Amino acid sequence: MVERYPSAIELVEVGPRDGLQNEKRLLSPADKLILIERAIGAGSRRIEVTSFVNPRAVPQMADAEEVCAGLPRRADVTYIGLVMNGRGADRAIATGRIDQLGAVATATDRFGMANQGQTSQDSVQISRDIIDQARAAGLTGQATIAVAFGCPFEGEVSHDYVVEIASRLCEAGPVELALADTIGVADPAHVEQLVARVREAIAPIPVRVHFHNTRGTGLANVWAAIGAGASVVDASIGGLGGCPFAPAATGNVATEDVVYMLQRAGIETGLNLEALIDANLWLGTQMEKQLPSMVAKAGLFPAKDHSLAGARK
Ligand code: ZN
Repeated sequence: MVERYPSAIELVEVGPRDGLQNEKRLLSPADKLILIERAIGAGSRRIEVTSFVNPRAVPQMADAEEVCAGLPRRADVTYIGLVMNGRGADRAIATGRIDQLGAVATATDRFGMANQGQTSQDSVQISRDIIDQARAAGLTGQATIAVAFGCPFEGEVSHDYVVEIASRLCEAGPVELALADTIGVADPAHVEQLVARVREAIAPIPVRVHFHNTRGTGLANVWAAIGAGASVVDASIGGLGGCPFAPAATGNVATEDVVYMLQRAGIETGLNLEALIDANLWLGTQMEKQLPSMVAKAGLFPAKDHSLAGARK
C-alpha cells in the first residue's frame, strides 16, 4: 500500500441511476435488476438504484417503483434512492425498499434551476429537510453538492461557497457529504484543495466524491480525492453516465477502472474485477455499444498466465 493512502475505500455503484439516466436506449426494469444483481455479485454493497424524479423530465427513471419492488432482499446491501424534493422522498420511502435517501444540493443557482427548479440556497434547505425526513422514516440520508467543481452555466464555483453549504448540509446529520463533478470539468489540483477543505470543515462526517470522465481527468481526480481524505467514491459499471441537464457531460468514472487503479495500489474495495468485466460485457450487449471503461477493453493485469509464469520463477 502507498504511504498516506488508506487501506480500503468504499465504492458506491451508481450505474443503475447515473449510468442509465442519460442513455437513449432504455433498459427494462428486469434488465436494471440484472445489472444490480451483477453489481452485488461483484461485491458491491452500496448501490444507487434509481432516482425519484419527474418521469417527464427523466423518462429513464420512470420505473423507479418497479425497480425497487424487485430489489434483492439483502441485509448487507444499502440501496440508495436519489431524490430532489419532499415528494420524491415520499415516493422513495413508500417503496419500503430504499435504505438511504440521497439529497442533491446545487452549488449554483442556474444549475439548480435547470436540474431541479431550486436556487442553490433553496436546494440546501430542501436537502436538509430530506435528511430529516429520511431519519423520521427510519432510513439514513446523504447529501451531494452538484456542480461543486464547476457549472455549465456559471463557470467557476467558489471553494468558500462549497465549504459553506457543505457545513450547513452537515448540520442535518447526513451519513456523508458528496462532492459531485456533475459535468466533468474537475482537475486533480482543484480536487485535492476542495476535498481537503471540505473534509476539515465537516469531520468526522466522511467525504464522498463523484466524477465524470468528460475531459479525461476522472481517475486522476479519484486519486487526488483519496489522497486528500475522501473515503467513498462513486463509479458506474462500464463508465456509462451523464446528466440530462448538463450539456456535453459524459460517463462516470468506470467501476472497473477505479477498482484496477486501487487494487494496484493495494487499496481494498471488496470488488471483484473479473466479475465487473463480465458485467460490463453484459451491459454493453444490452446497450448495443462498447462502453467507455478502459480496463474492460484491455483486460486484467497481471493476466492469469502471467501469474503462472511468476509462480515458476
Ligand atoms: Zn453524475
